[in-house]
Amino acid sequence: MNTSNNTQDTEPKKRFIAGAVCPACQVIDGIRMWEVDGVPHRDCVHCGYSDTLNAAGNSVPNELPTRINTSALQKPKEAQGQALKFFPNPKLKKSDS
Ligand SMILES: [Zn+2]
Repeated sequence: MNTSNNTQDTEPKKRFIAGAVCPACQVIDGIRMWEVDGVPHRDCVHCGYSDTLNAAGNSVPNELPTRINTSALQKPKEAQGQALKFFPNPKLKKSDS
C-alpha cells in the first residue's frame, strides 16, 4: 500500500515576509512569498493581490482572470447599450385618451 499525497507535494510553502508592504492595499506583514520552479511568487492575504518576480527581479502583477477579463469584455457592450432609446408603449396612450 502506497499512500502518497500528490497535493502536498505540489503545494508550495508560503512564508510571511516581515515588514513587507503590499503594493495594492499598503498593509504591512500581509505579504507571503513562495517559489515555483525557482521563480519567486508573492501574494497579499488582505486584498488578494499577487505578483511574480521576473528574471530581472521586477514585480510582475498577476491579473485576476475572473474579475479583470470579464469586466474588460463587458465594458464595450455596456457603452453601446446606452445608445439605445426607450420608446413609449403605444398602448398607454390609448388608455389615457
Ligand atoms: Zn494587499
